[in-house]
Amino acid sequence: MTAACLMSTYQSLALSFTRGLGTRLWDQQGREYLDAVAGVAVTNVGHSHPRLVSAISEQAGLLLHTSNLYSIDWQQRLAQRLAHLSGLDRAFFNNSGAEANETALKLARLHGWKKGIEEPLIVVMENAFHGRTLGTMAASDGPSVRLGFQRLPGDFLKVRFGDIAALETITNTFGARITAVLLEPIQGESGVLPAPPGYLQALRDHCTRHGWLLMLDEIQTGIGRTGAWFAFQHAGIVPDVMTLAKGLGNGVPIGACLARSAVAELFTPGSHGSTFGGNPLACRVGCTVLEIIEEQGLLQNAAQQGERLLARLRVELADHPQVLAIRGQGLMIGIELASPYRDLAERAAREHGLLINVTRGKIIRLLPPLTLDAKEVEMIVRAITRLLD
Ligand SMILES: *Cc1c(COP(=O)(O)O)cnc(C)c1O
Repeated sequence: MTAACLMSTYQSLALSFTRGLGTRLWDQQGREYLDAVAGVAVTNVGHSHPRLVSAISEQAGLLLHTSNLYSIDWQQRLAQRLAHLSGLDRAFFNNSGAEANETALKLARLHGWKKGIEEPLIVVMENAFHGRTLGTMAASDGPSVRLGFQRLPGDFLKVRFGDIAALETITNTFGARITAVLLEPIQGESGVLPAPPGYLQALRDHCTRHGWLLMLDEIQTGIGRTGAWFAFQHAGIVPDVMTLAKGLGNGVPIGACLARSAVAELFTPGSHGSTFGGNPLACRVGCTVLEIIEEQGLLQNAAQQGERLLARLRVELADHPQVLAIRGQGLMIGIELASPYRDLAERAAREHGLLINVTRGKIIRLLPPLTLDAKEVEMIVRAITRLLD
């Protein structure tokens, strides 16, 4: 088989899988791999989880799609569960992360419109990644995402991530036009960069004081990845808007935008919509994923194994001349190298049977399923130590 008929948007490895179970994948030759990518923070409860398999099979035999012309029971149930877990009030369902962020951007526009702001601005962060649609590309940073796509929607102001003084400065200049701040609590694509201590709390205060919406992109950090349901819970704050996708469907496409009531009510019938968004299959899967995480204690496991993995990596790689930093929270861990290594992900797979992701050329990103156990932590540590030797 060749990829000649596909658009060349991905630099895929010459590796293809036919089967997965839990934390393991098997390739076409039947070789087993430990999966520390999880489809980029997607398969959080592991591959082919039996409860999810039976929920999907049963729902496929009952009903896949009716459209939002009718009320959808599973959609209401999932919204209620997510509202309860997050402290937010209402949900809108999409099919992807970028779409969930578009939903948030539309809420920010309406928030400004309602206040009579003619040219509203949204504050975003340096090195942010929010998706590949025109709006979310504009909210993202870096030439790799944006090159060749000018002009993009221009209503974004970029500040340095973690820098409250920079925020004060643009507030003085543009404050009256700003409607919202959008950010990732831990920047994922740019190399697992957590917000500095106190930053999210300071942002929360700043947004409240100025009547701006605090909008958190938890597409990668949410659904247990960091050892809490949502990363903002570590900071003891609640945002006005939050977006989810990736882990919510464990591989079945779904995105969600949640908001406080007063913000959610900016949408009225006709102001937003989606044909597939919130269909019975995707929403039943979402409900089942949340149940599995709860029943298997996966938040605690992600926190505990994440700490173990971080500690063990720090011990084994402490004196490694190529390792600049090891950081992260829960099972979202980055190992920053001094310089790019060629074919790191491919060598990890071929020589050590370990799937890793490398972002920005020189940051190893580990995002294993939240079911990872202590033995597998050691397997990852051993493989990475040998890989870097
Ligand atoms: C993956 C990701 C997105 C985009 O999600 P898609 O489903 O690929 O559209 C947006 N924001 C963050 C933080 C992500 O990690």
